[in-house]
Amino acid sequence: MTHWQNWGRSESARPVRVTRPSTPDDVVTVIADARRDGLAVKPVGAGHSFTGIAVAPGVQLDMGALSGVLAVDGNRVTLAAGTHLHQLPALLGPLGLALQNMGDIDAQTISGATSTGTHGTGAAFTGLAGQIRAVTLATADGRLLRIDEHHEWFDAARLGLGALGVLTDITVECVPAFKLSAVEKPEPLSELLDTWLERAGAPDHFEFYWFPHTTTALTKTNTRLPMDAESRPLGTAKRWLDDEFMSNTVFRWVCGLGTAAPSLIPRVNRLASHLTGHRAFTDISTSVFTTERRVRFREMEYALPAEVVPDVLREISALIERKGWRISFPLEIRIAAPDDIWLSTAHGRRTGYIAVHRYFKEDQHEYFRGVEEIFRAYEGRPHWGKIHYQDADSLRKRYSRFDDFVAVRDALDPDRVFSNPYLERVLGL
Ligand SMILES: Cc1cc2nc3c(=O)[nH]c(=O)nc-3n(C[C@H](O)[C@H](O)[C@H](O)COP(=O)(O)OP(=O)(O)OC[C@H]3O[C@@H](n4cnc5c(N)ncnc54)[C@H](O)[C@@H]3O)c2cc1C
Repeated sequence: MTHWQNWGRSESARPVRVTRPSTPDDVVTVIADARRDGLAVKPVGAGHSFTGIAVAPGVQLDMGALSGVLAVDGNRVTLAAGTHLHQLPALLGPLGLALQNMGDIDAQTISGATSTGTHGTGAAFTGLAGQIRAVTLATADGRLLRIDEHHEWFDAARLGLGALGVLTDITVECVPAFKLSAVEKPEPLSELLDTWLERAGAPDHFEFYWFPHTTTALTKTNTRLPMDAESRPLGTAKRWLDDEFMSNTVFRWVCGLGTAAPSLIPRVNRLASHLTGHRAFTDISTSVFTTERRVRFREMEYALPAEVVPDVLREISALIERKGWRISFPLEIRIAAPDDIWLSTAHGRRTGYIAVHRYFKEDQHEYFRGVEEIFRAYEGRPHWGKIHYQDADSLRKRYSRFDDFVAVRDALDPDRVFSNPYLERVLGL
């Protein structure tokens, strides 16, 4: 029996069987076979969700053989559902295209990423699901259903939590390939919080990290440039030093040290925020948006009305000090444009995101539950792929189209072929 674990080592499963379909028709057959055997079906992407959303106790679908570009129509590219984001530069580059925006990493599959509401940062940009123009869904009753912008279920299907069926392909609205000019520097946290909306709203892409127990924020500002702009990439040695040695190797030592001797964490965090220097570079978008994360952690991230971010951060800082917690991982703060997608964490409001992390060898629950109370008091919505403690009753109050989504689920999957314990918790039985 296969033992599956997610990246954050917070979830695991022993599926009854694992299948690797190589065509959409195979997916339909796998679903029919599973139903005959009374088993639930769950496709898994790269296993990068921290929640149990991808846990497959019955039939686990490995979508890896369904990969690559299926069709191109102007900027619209149809990708097979198992395509990983890290494949996109090679697939889209020759077409002169790129994703409009990206999150921190490129390990995910296009289906897994859109199904959980994966997003990057940028006040004028939505998450990935906002760029989806159509999907094909293998349904519980054996159809391959095309759902495009004109379909009544479009705003359910492009961010469907894996609850509606198995995506076999996805059509993405891409943009002409572009470069990003990046400026990264430390700044005083209090000044940044006082001017948060202007700071986050002005550049194309703005985010910052804040190490608890310090008064410094590490800001990242990215400006979009055409492809013919001059590249000034980080040198190989500098990239290795900052992104590999400091962010992965040294950071892993620091996290290990912090676990063994938590009292050292405030001093280590202050040192880390001093050591992080100013750097500026220009490169193709994917190389700037994403980095490799090899220090395992667990994460909770909430979407909040953008304007409350400073108040929420101040409350979190006060809570950490009051409780005497020692937190080695920085908080990450981002922004996104509103959208109309029913279960999008940015549905109907300009959104500020605050993410908290904990090293995977530390227990995250007390910290996450404490911070979640603050998030909930500010009408926060949890990222579907990151740890949270809410259920269908509390989530329903946060999403005006929640019941519409559940109605589509009832129509497409009345027997709950695609359910699992996480979906039962967040959507109901
Ligand atoms: C180090 C790290 C960094 C991250 N950075 C960000 C970030 O910057 N921004 C952000 O928003 N999130 C981020 N995440 C979260 C991550 O983007 C999401 O959890 C995403 O869903 C993971 O994609 P995946 O391919 O691993 O999907 P999985 O976790 O494997 O699956 C997620 C869901 O998608 C479903 N699914 C997968 N394939 C299909 C299919 N073919 N049809 C239907 N359903 C399907 C699964 O069943 C499951 O419900 C990060 C996670 C990690 C571990």
